[in-house]
Amino acid sequence: MTREPDDSSKQLAARVGAVASLCEVASTAQLSTSIYQVALRGNAVTLAGTPGNDVMIRLDDAKGRHVRRRYSVRDLDVAADEFTLWITIEHDGPGSVWVKKAQPGEPVDVIGPRGKIHLDPSAPWHLFIGDASGLAAFYRMAQSIELPSRAIFIVEIDASDDALSAPFDEQLGVTGIFVNREQRSTSDPAGLLSGLAALALPPGDGHAYLFGEFHVMRVLQSALLDRGLQPDQISHKAFWRSGRSNAEHGEPEKVED
Ligand SMILES: Cc1cc2nc3c(=O)[nH]c(=O)nc-3n(C[C@H](O)[C@H](O)[C@H](O)COP(=O)(O)OP(=O)(O)OC[C@H]3O[C@@H](n4cnc5c(N)ncnc54)[C@H](O)[C@@H]3O)c2cc1C
Repeated sequence: MTREPDDSSKQLAARVGAVASLCEVASTAQLSTSIYQVALRGNAVTLAGTPGNDVMIRLDDAKGRHVRRRYSVRDLDVAADEFTLWITIEHDGPGSVWVKKAQPGEPVDVIGPRGKIHLDPSAPWHLFIGDASGLAAFYRMAQSIELPSRAIFIVEIDASDDALSAPFDEQLGVTGIFVNREQRSTSDPAGLLSGLAALALPPGDGHAYLFGEFHVMRVLQSALLDRGLQPDQISHKAFWRSGRSNAEHGEPEKVED
């Protein structure tokens, strides 16, 4: 068995200024109805980058074609040379299918670190808005906030047990609003909009981070501008798109419906 990442991964990594490594699955665990955790071992410090970064994994789709999928790093264990990802599973796609079957010792072709959105160190408060696919990034970023500060989470979930928690410094003011999706479509922003409407924004120029479904994130971005945030106070990234697989390179397609 080869112990090297695929040549295409090495070439892509060189183009994007990242590193390609062949990791192995250390463990997997189902954390909730919609979220699996996978721990990957190998070159962890480099691949995991800094809070907000993600890694790109090379997988096979149902037709045996190679695709890449991106997942935010949730946590880094330097001593164990491992990092963890939280992967949503309540849909059928190469990523969700892979993580449910992944076995310890299995090789995984990984490119990292990827991503350009990081914590704004000057912000007096940080607002994280999205769905379960954003939780890993939200919690890792929030755990790196310098004190004193505030972290506010507005997260839409599909099942009550998807409201996973994370340990934070006691001096970090934390507000968490979990909105149950109920029967709404995955492209319906109403749930997150109602969560945002219920929130009085703290004083000062905070920063908002929007990670989730393509259409929903666009509407939430406009809603935050309407609430008086400036464009440079909002970091926005569509992680997936309702009704469409992400493209081969791992991002949602930006074509109009
Ligand atoms: C920078 C970046 C970071 C990301 N980080 C994470 C992360 O930490 N955790 C994570 O779970 N995802 C994350 N994603 C999203 C993940 O890469 C996509 O959800 C991916 O499309 C899922 O791949 P898949 O192969 O399972 O499904 P795909 O083949 O992409 O999609 C199959 C079908 O499932 C639907 N679908 C995809 N994702 C969801 C979902 N979350 N809920 C409901 N339906 C869905 C699609 O609309 C499509 O109809 C990230 C994406 C980017 C770009």
